[in-house]
Amino acid sequence: MRAEGRGALPADVYWSFVSSLYQKRQTLTIGMLSHAVTFLLVYAKVRDPAYVVPAILVAVIWLFRMFGMRRFDRLDPQKLDRQDIRRWENTYNIGAFCVTAVLGIACGYSLLVTGDSFAQLACISVTLGTMVSVVGRNFGSKQAVSLLTYSACLPIVFSLLALQDIFMAILAVLILPLIVTTRTMANGVREFLYRNVLAAREIATIADRLDTALNNMTHGLFMLDKDHRILLANRRACEMLHLGDQARLKDCHLDVVLRYGVRRSFLDAGQLKRVLVQLDHLIQGGQSRALIPFSSDMYLEFSASRREDGGIVLIFEDVTARIRADQKILHMVRYDTLTGLANRDYFGELVSAALLTDDPEPPVGFMLLDIDEFKHVNDVRGHGVGDSLLCAVSERLKKVAAAKALVGRLVGDEFMLFYPNDDNDEDIHQTMRAFHRALAGDYTVEDQTFRVSLSAGYAVAPRGEFRLEEMQIRADLALFEAKAKEKGVSNLFVPEMDARYLDRQSLKEDLRTAVNNEALTVVYQPMTTPDGAHVECFEALSRWVHPERGEVPTAQFIRIAEEINVISEITALVLRRACRDCLTWPDSIAVSVNLSAHDLRDEKIIGVVMHALLISGLPAERLHLEVTESCLLDEPVKVSGILKELRMRGITIALDDFGTGYSSLSYLDALPVDIIKVDRAFVRDIVLDGRRFKLLRGIVHLARELGLKIVVEGVETDAQLQLLVKYNCADLVQGYVFSIPVVSKDVKALLVAFG
Ligand code: C2E
Ligand code: MG
Ligand code: MG
Repeated sequence: MRAEGRGALPADVYWSFVSSLYQKRQTLTIGMLSHAVTFLLVYAKVRDPAYVVPAILVAVIWLFRMFGMRRFDRLDPQKLDRQDIRRWENTYNIGAFCVTAVLGIACGYSLLVTGDSFAQLACISVTLGTMVSVVGRNFGSKQAVSLLTYSACLPIVFSLLALQDIFMAILAVLILPLIVTTRTMANGVREFLYRNVLAAREIATIADRLDTALNNMTHGLFMLDKDHRILLANRRACEMLHLGDQARLKDCHLDVVLRYGVRRSFLDAGQLKRVLVQLDHLIQGGQSRALIPFSSDMYLEFSASRREDGGIVLIFEDVTARIRADQKILHMVRYDTLTGLANRDYFGELVSAALLTDDPEPPVGFMLLDIDEFKHVNDVRGHGVGDSLLCAVSERLKKVAAAKALVGRLVGDEFMLFYPNDDNDEDIHQTMRAFHRALAGDYTVEDQTFRVSLSAGYAVAPRGEFRLEEMQIRADLALFEAKAKEKGVSNLFVPEMDARYLDRQSLKEDLRTAVNNEALTVVYQPMTTPDGAHVECFEALSRWVHPERGEVPTAQFIRIAEEINVISEITALVLRRACRDCLTWPDSIAVSVNLSAHDLRDEKIIGVVMHALLISGLPAERLHLEVTESCLLDEPVKVSGILKELRMRGITIALDDFGTGYSSLSYLDALPVDIIKVDRAFVRDIVLDGRRFKLLRGIVHLARELGLKIVVEGVETDAQLQLLVKYNCADLVQGYVFSIPVVSKDVKALLVAFG
C-alpha cells in the first residue's frame, strides 16, 4: 500500500490524517492575529485602505473555519465513509487556501502597486512565515500542502517577474526551491507517520488477537519474569484461582498472588505451603509437569517452560473431572460394587500394607465368614432382598471391625477379615471370636427381619510368617469344618485340618475310581405294613466298602459324590441294579430309589429312569423315586415338571426325610408326590415326648387329608411301633424294628421270614 495512493489508504488511517488538520487550532488563531495585525500595520504606514481588506478577510475566514471546526468536533467517526472524510478534508483545504491566497495576493499588491519597502517586507515575511507552518500543520493532506504552497508563493513569484528587474527575477526563481522543499518535507512527514500508524495498527491487531487467544484458552496461564513476578495472567488463570481482576496482578510476585487466594479462603495455609513447594520444584526444573491438589474439590495440572531471559511460562489446567473419573475407576477396581467393601485383590494390597511393620512377633488373625443358609434367602425372598441383606451384613461388619481390622468381600456371601493386632492383644482368639459373634443377630431389610448366623473359620500366625494365600486356605478349611459340624460357630484352624483335608481329597479320588469301576453295592430295606404282615416295597440304598477304610457312611460318600459331580452315575447305577433286582421279587413288591437334588436339575433324569426300566423290563408302577425337599428349592417349577412327567409315566414319587427341611405343610398339596416319608428324627422321641408325637399325628392327619400315603422311617423299637399302630399313624413302616437293609440275595429269605 502506498502512502501517496490516498484512495488506497485504509479509512481509519485516512481519518486520522484528516483529523490532524483539525487539531492545534490556537495556531490558526495566532496566525490570523499576526496576519491581521501585519496588514493593519502596513495600512498605518502607507495609508492605503486596500490593506484593511485582507485584515478583515483573514478574520472572517478564521471565523468560518472555527465554526466548521466546531461541527467537526461533533462528528461520530464510526458513521463516516470515505466520501464524508474527503468532504471534511476539502472543507479544511478551502479555508486554508483562502487564507494563503489572501496572503499571496497581498504580497503581489505590495510589490506591484504599493511599491513601499515596509509594505513589501511585511507582506512577504508574514507569508513566508506562514509557509513554515504548512509542513507542521497541514502534512495530513497532500492536496492542502500543494494548494497552500502554490497559493502563497506563486503570486510572489509572478509579481517579482512582473517587475522586469533581473535581480527580482532571480529572487523569484529562488522561491521555487522553497515550494519544492515544503512539499517534499510535508510528504516525508506524512509518509513517516503513515508507516508508523500502520505499524501501530498492526501491533494493536496482533496484541488484540493474542489477548483474545489468551483469554479464551481453556488453560490458565502465568508469564513470570526471572524473579517470578507476573508479567501476564490470562482470564482463565484468574477464574481458576479466584484472583479477581487480571490487570491488578501485573508485577505481583506469584507467592503473593497465591497468598491472596488464601485470603479469599479457597486455600488454607497448609495447602498453600504444599502448593508453593510443588510449584517451586516445578519452576526450578525438578519436573516438567506437576499435579497439584488445591483442595479436595480442585486438582490443577501445571507445566512450566523456561524463557531465554530466565522467565517462566506456567500453563495449568483444571483436571478435577479427570482425577474424579480416575478415582471412580480406581474405586470400582478396588471395591465391591454391591457392598462397598474391598474386593479380594485390594484387600490383599491392604493386608500387605498393614504387615509392613517392624515387629514380626505379635500374632495376627485372618477370618472367613459365611452367612448360613443365605441361598435360602435368595431362593425364597428373591435376589433383591438377598442383596440388601448382604449390604446390611457388610455395614455391620464395617462397624464391628471399625478401626481395628480390615474387611472385604471374598465372593457371594463370604467375607474376609484381617486383624493386624496393632495393640498386641493378649488373647487374639477372643478378639477374633468377638468379631464373629457381633455379626450374628437380627437384620431388618425391606421390612423383613432375618435372624442371621454366620459360620466362620479363622487362622492365626505370627506377623512375620503371615502369607495371605496360605492363611486363606487355612481359614477356608476351618470354615468348611465349621459348616459341616454345626452352623453359626467360629472354628480355629488347627494343623490336623490339613491332614483331614488331604484325607477328604484322597477319599474323593477313591470314590471317583469306585464309581467308574461300579464298585458300589446296593442293599434293600423293606417298607412293611405296620403289623409286619406285608412287605410292599424295598428302599434301595447304596453302600461303598473302601478297600482300606472299610464301609464309608452312605450319607458321607453321597455328599462327596455330589461335590465331585459323580452322583448322577451313582443314581444310574442304583436305578439299573434296583430295577433288575426288583424283577426277581414277587410282582406286588416295588423298589424305591433315592434321587439327588443334582439329578433333578436336568430333564435327562427322565431318560435315565426310563432306560433303567426298559433294559430291566420292570413295569413303571413298581418303581418309586424318593426326592427330598431340598430338591425342590433350587428350581421348584422345573423340578415339579420333571416329577409330573415321571408320574405320568406310572412311577410313584415319595417325599423323603419329610420334616427336616424347610417344607411347610402348606405347599404339600401343590407337589406332585404320592407318598411322604416322615423322617426318623420325628419318630425318635415319640415315646417320651408327647408333643413330638402330637406333631407327628398332625402331619399324618394332614397328609391323609391330602390323599397321600405315609411311610414312617427309622422305627427302631417295639414301643415306637405300638404307638404308631395304636394311633394309626403309618401306612407303612421302615426301620430296624423289622429289618436292617439287606443285600439282594437275602431279600428272598427276608420275604419268607415275613411270610
Ligand atoms: P434315606 O433315604 O432316608 O434312607 C434311610 C436311611 O435310614 C438309611 O441310611 C437307612 O439305613 C437308615 N435307617 C433305616 N432304618 C433305620 C432305623 O431304624 N434307625 C436308624 N438309625 N437308621 C435307619 P443310609 O443307608 O445310611 O442312607 C443315608 C441316606 O443316604 C439316605 O437316607 C439317602 O438320603 C442317602 N442315600 C442312600 N443311598 C442313596 C443313593 O443311592 N442315592 C442317593 N441319591 N442317596 C442315597
Ligand atoms: Mg430315602
Ligand atoms: Mg429318609
